[in-house]
Amino acid sequence: MTGPSPVVAGPEAGGGPLLEASGLTKHFPVGGTRFAARGVVHAVDDVSLRIARGAITAIVGESGSGKSTLAKLLARLIKPTGGSLALDGKAIAARSRAGRRYARQVQLVLQDPFASLNPIHDVRYHLVRPLKLHGIPGSGGPDGENNVARGPRPRAVLDQAVEDLLSRVALTPPEAFAAKYPHELSGGQRQRVAIARALAVAPAILLADEPVSMLDVSIRLGVLNLLADLRERDGLAIVYVTHDIASARYLADTIAVMYAGRIVETGPAAALTDQPAHPYTQLLLSAAPDPDRAQRPSLRGKGAPPNLATPPPGCRFHPRCPHAMRICAETVPTLTETGAGQASACWLHASGLSGAERAPLKIADLRAASEPPPPYPDDAAEPGKEA
Ligand code: SF4
Repeated sequence: MTGPSPVVAGPEAGGGPLLEASGLTKHFPVGGTRFAARGVVHAVDDVSLRIARGAITAIVGESGSGKSTLAKLLARLIKPTGGSLALDGKAIAARSRAGRRYARQVQLVLQDPFASLNPIHDVRYHLVRPLKLHGIPGSGGPDGENNVARGPRPRAVLDQAVEDLLSRVALTPPEAFAAKYPHELSGGQRQRVAIARALAVAPAILLADEPVSMLDVSIRLGVLNLLADLRERDGLAIVYVTHDIASARYLADTIAVMYAGRIVETGPAAALTDQPAHPYTQLLLSAAPDPDRAQRPSLRGKGAPPNLATPPPGCRFHPRCPHAMRICAETVPTLTETGAGQASACWLHASGLSGAERAPLKIADLRAASEPPPPYPDDAAEPGKEA
């Protein structure tokens, strides 16, 4: 068995990864009082990632797997319970100039384009605001880190910058879109404006949290292709968070599969989806729509995701896993190499297990691990609320 392996997104250029997360952990307090929680929700546990320049990494998992919490941790919108982040090899301290630079370099695009734009302002306002706050990239300003100049700018300069941004996200003619309000745009056009707003500060990494899940199926492909173009044209690194493993295969170089707050399998997108090593990845793929598949998929995994206030011991997938063994309910498996660049956190790939450890789990053990926890009182703090 090897130790936990970081996720490496694509071939790394010289100088190491652009963004590195080590042991990121987020536990949300629940129940009790403001000063003494009754328990914690284990939303993200010990996740390590290495994002290479110009690479697209997909974080895939079902609802409640912790993938959106991980995106917020990477964007530094919430404080981690444990772990650290480093950008360009430099550790990011809580309050520092490096923190401000991080905010410019790592931008988040949210799932809901309806909610992420202010309905009382036009598109121009949404794009000018970050340009005024952070300056216009490439304008030869005093900030050596991003080459931006902050402060007042002539209207003509700002208008040109807005038109450039709208052209980059294929909203043309840009002058017509700049004057529109969010309610005058389609869902896909709103999401393009949200992406343009993120691009306004010339980020190196775009965190796209379910960017197409609220869009009509017919316009999802256009937004995915836009993300692919941005990577090709601008060398942007993208972290694509999704529940849809088929779109992850289409867009990403590398896929990391999350289950119940942990990464359970990683690898090159094509290899991981062609030959999934982890039973949960196999379950996800069997549930993905496939027009070439004549028969209905047989979902061999049973049950539902666990309550993360009381996650199952050992492998968190064991109450649902058709291959669960005695050791699965006792010890957490670590990521193990299973192929070229592919790694899976599953005891099936371990060698040297004893007969007792390999013994199949009994139904009674699985039921015990699946039992729901006692409910918290009505006045319990909601998951997601900081202590
Ligand atoms: Fe299934 Fe055990 Fe592998 Fe977990 S570690 S996926 S329970 S076989």
